[in-house]
Amino acid sequence: RKPIVAVVGRPNVGKSTIFNMMAGEKIAIVQNTPGVTRDRIYADVDWLNHNFTIIDTGGIEPDSKDIILSQMRYQAETAIETADVIMFVVDVLTGLTDTDYKVADILRKSKKPIVLCVNKVDNFDKLQYDVLEFYNLGLGEPMPLSAVNKIGMGDLLDEIVKHF
Ligand code: GDP
Ligand code: MG
Repeated sequence: RKPIVAVVGRPNVGKSTIFNMMAGEKIAIVQNTPGVTRDRIYADVDWLNHNFTIIDTGGIEPDSKDIILSQMRYQAETAIETADVIMFVVDVLTGLTDTDYKVADILRKSKKPIVLCVNKVDNFDKLQYDVLEFYNLGLGEPMPLSAVNKIGMGDLLDEIVKHF
């Protein structure tokens, strides 16, 4: 079967935007409807001679830190069970959060390959040093990305397919 790549990360870091960009069309819903649970969304991605299935994860629009964390734990555990590679997305504009650290701990223990994607690096000259902070998650090299500007996509996809 095709390798499965799951996209995991806090709300609003840009998971669905990345998913749409990789899928090449608008499939995932950017911005959740408050209080509505969405199923995971799947798409096939072709990159060079690699084919894989990408899974976007969404869920309830969280209104508290506790809900975000429990949702994230569920997301991470489901990804660990089903995915061959996990893409953990963080946001350079908000920087590292407690939730990021907690999710990183769960993912690290899984021994699944993790690709750490630092999104919203819209201006690399300005933000490249902020990206370094994410080394603190202990998940290896942070890959800078600007999903809205489609910058960094090639390097990110190269990093993902290395693990197949
Ligand atoms: P999700 O909740 O993780 O799925 O995040 P979404 O994909 O729905 O995006 C949340 C918000 O972040 C939207 O307003 C996006 O337009 C915005 N966003 C996504 N990627 C980028 C990016 O690379 N740069 C900036 N500045 N904003 C982004
Ligand atoms: Mg989303």
